[in-house]
Amino acid sequence: MALIVQKFGGSSVADAQSIKRVAKRIVETRRAGNDVVVVVSAMGDTTDELLDLAAGVTPIPAPRELDMLLTAGERISMALLAMAIKGMGMDALSFTGSQAGMITTAEHGSAKIVDVTPRRVREALDQGSVAIVAGFQGFNRGTGDITTLGRGGSDTTAVALAAALDADVCEIYTDVDGVYTTDPRVVSCARKIHSITSEEMLELAASGAKVLHLRAVEYARRHGVALHVRSSFSNEEGTIVYDPKKGHPKGEKVEEPIITGIAFEKSEAKVTVGGVPDVPGKAAQIFEIVAKTNANIDMIVQNVSADHRTDISFTVPSGDGRKVVEALESAREDIGYDRLQYDDQIAKVAVVGAGMRDASGVSAQLFRALFDAGINIEMISTSEIRISVVTRADVMEDAVRVLHTAFGLDTDDEAVVYAGTGR
Ligand code: ADP
Ligand code: ASP
Ligand code: MG
Repeated sequence: MALIVQKFGGSSVADAQSIKRVAKRIVETRRAGNDVVVVVSAMGDTTDELLDLAAGVTPIPAPRELDMLLTAGERISMALLAMAIKGMGMDALSFTGSQAGMITTAEHGSAKIVDVTPRRVREALDQGSVAIVAGFQGFNRGTGDITTLGRGGSDTTAVALAAALDADVCEIYTDVDGVYTTDPRVVSCARKIHSITSEEMLELAASGAKVLHLRAVEYARRHGVALHVRSSFSNEEGTIVYDPKKGHPKGEKVEEPIITGIAFEKSEAKVTVGGVPDVPGKAAQIFEIVAKTNANIDMIVQNVSADHRTDISFTVPSGDGRKVVEALESAREDIGYDRLQYDDQIAKVAVVGAGMRDASGVSAQLFRALFDAGINIEMISTSEIRISVVTRADVMEDAVRVLHTAFGLDTDDEAVVYAGTGR
């Protein structure tokens, strides 16, 4: 008998019909003799709709209340799913994040899981029930308040439960057949990846591939949880995310391609501090000011200086843009710069592959492909297994398609996107 954690994303439980379809799948897994713990997201675009509602009453909603509001989404789907399973003659019990023992830090909207005490989930399993847990939410012991883990956080709930319960596998059910070489909504000839290392998946998730929540991949890697990303709309085998140090879960030998996948995101902005005096300490001063805003900086570029002045550019999530600009504006005299520019019409495209370590000429090939397509590169950053570039936002999708072809990732089959609005 195996213990299986199954996570169903919003598009898999978008309406009553879908909930019944998912319930049937869960019942079949249970009847096959497995213990089943289910993590569920809010129905369809509920979380976005709740955010819109909040924005309708105030421009900057109180973070504590926003978490109270958003966690209602998962509460609806968990109860409906438990009802549907019970309606099929099988016992099921639903639990909120706090009932399931998801203990987190206190930051509303981006809490981190610090402990998992799933006593009630275990008891439910011991009684022969299917346990249904609301994804994306937790509880902070210090404040006594409900928290959320950040958008897409139900994946992380599932992985944390799988680790705490020592599950045999954590299945992430979504609206595509697995992890593809890039988002199949943008490139329909994207190829399904049968297995991917957690290291590459980390880079893809960190670069915007929302098919898995970044922290879920990190958590799975740290706790040795095997992930299987697959569709709730088909019976196809999906993608196995594994740690090569521990070996492939099915013992397969996997050759490392030079390029495994391409990720992209539009939610970043570029800040340029122009005409900064080119003397030691200025970069420290600028980035200390930015650090105090808690914004997450990604790429940084400093230009060659002319007349003892230089330009420093960096990217931040556009949601943090305003506070970063305000902080820098108020320190203008202290820093002694000439200009401040803010540009949110940029996008980031990242090419990822573990085989890049031993290959030469990958950057040249990337730059050539973009040049041939007339796409200008504004910033570049690299890691051992990733090259990222910043382009104009309106050419991002073209850049992804061109690179997908240039690196030989196109296939003849059309990828299926079963549901969801991609919102
Ligand atoms: P869920 O609601 O199931 O959590 P998400 O919308 O969060 O689903 O994630 C699934 C979506 O991720 C897909 O529909 C697809 O558009 C997008 N996606 C982005 N990059 C990739 C990729 N490399 N492979 C597969 N899907 C991707
Ligand atoms: N419902 C939350 C969201 O839309 C969490 C999740 O789906 O993983 O972000
Ligand atoms: Mg998701």
